[in-house]
Amino acid sequence: MNKKIVILGAGESGVGSAVLAQKHGFDVFVSDKGQIKEYYRELLEKYRIKWEEGTHNESIILSADEIIKSPGIPESAPIIKKIREKGIRVISEIEFAGRYAKGIKICITGSNGKTTVTNLIYHILKKAGMNAAMTGNVGNSFAMAVAEGSYDYYVIELSSFQLDGMYEFKADIAILMNITPDHLDRYDYKLQNYIDSKFRVIQNQQKDNFLIYWEGDPIIKTELSRKKYSMTLLPFSDEIKEGMTAYIENDELIIDYQDKTNIMTIHDFALKGRHNTYNSMAAAIAGKILNIHKKVIRESLADFQGVEHRLEPVITVCGINFINDSKATNVNSTWYAIECMENNIIWIVGGIDKGNDYSELFPVVKKKVKAIVCLGKDNKKIVEAFKDKVPTIVETTTMEEAVRASYYLAKKGETVLLSPACASFDLFKNYEDRGRQFKQAVRNL
Ligand code: ADP
Repeated sequence: MNKKIVILGAGESGVGSAVLAQKHGFDVFVSDKGQIKEYYRELLEKYRIKWEEGTHNESIILSADEIIKSPGIPESAPIIKKIREKGIRVISEIEFAGRYAKGIKICITGSNGKTTVTNLIYHILKKAGMNAAMTGNVGNSFAMAVAEGSYDYYVIELSSFQLDGMYEFKADIAILMNITPDHLDRYDYKLQNYIDSKFRVIQNQQKDNFLIYWEGDPIIKTELSRKKYSMTLLPFSDEIKEGMTAYIENDELIIDYQDKTNIMTIHDFALKGRHNTYNSMAAAIAGKILNIHKKVIRESLADFQGVEHRLEPVITVCGINFINDSKATNVNSTWYAIECMENNIIWIVGGIDKGNDYSELFPVVKKKVKAIVCLGKDNKKIVEAFKDKVPTIVETTTMEEAVRASYYLAKKGETVLLSPACASFDLFKNYEDRGRQFKQAVRNL
């Protein structure tokens, strides 16, 4: 009898897993408690995969040999509790697809910068003419890429939720950008649980594997010092320090791997801001260890187009710049956004607070923010945190209102920055919806 695989959640990762599992001859069943999007329903039909929506058929689910869970379903969901009680193995789509992927796996994780670095590395590989796929948390499932193609390189963005369901998967190259508190609601409000989750990206790595990481991150450094690892460690820093694989010297990016190479001046990086310097450095190291020519790395870092909703310039209206950083859903990413701006910004902030500690932002906000426009259903915590730090705080509950208020508060030459430090689900479908509504409201001014 064929092994029974049940897939919970019929979104991008679930349907990708279903197609891959079907191709490998498993008995596949897909179950989604909500409504399945038409696009995915059609795909399931096309591959003749059994599915249900609006309910979970427990007798089928609990008779599975293995379950692939979508990263969005929390441990606290009743069906997961029942599955755990029965002791059925639950894995993530990445773990499953990793069993069948033959190419080199470059896995990017961290609290912030994942999508940017994933896109940068993919851009370098494509420019170098490599047969590469960009997958994972960026939006295209790894499983579907494995099911439908055969790639030499998989650039995979990994969230902590995906990492949680990974056990035997091995990253050929792991990239750990940073670790700052995020998603603590899913980790019993314990930072160590979240750290452990991120560190799963290097579990199973051996001597011939690599870990690229930001040396300036205190959590990563402490965690790495706890034990001896066998993979090659490739740290980077924007300061000149002993033992760095990449560093900045006189504004030049130097990579010291096998030989010392001056890659380019950091002024030519397409992505601006200190955090983006780190992102470009991580991508450059990956390019170097994959033997990509320095000229290709340089050109790629210089002509990269940027990713929507990440410090994305919208337009200038009457001399006021509007910047969409809707993807800043935690305090740390907002810190970097504010830090790289000129003074006198109007900062649109708010949404669903995931346990934020705003005190980290006090120094940059005091220095650079002239007015705060709160945008959320409940703005109490923000008002309380910043009321004696910023002279003007306005509360709004729609994007249109927030943009109009910002427009009135800003003067020519100043910047309105949407960088919410919070999740978007109180007023918007997701951060993309929030960012698009922002851009629309700006264009309507
Ligand atoms: P992720 O995929 O990890 O959420 P993104 O590349 O989508 O990361 O960027 C998310 C937010 O974090 C954006 O607001 C962006 O400006 C900011 N950001 C990007 N890279 C970094 C970094 N290395 N450190 C801190 N913040 C960053």
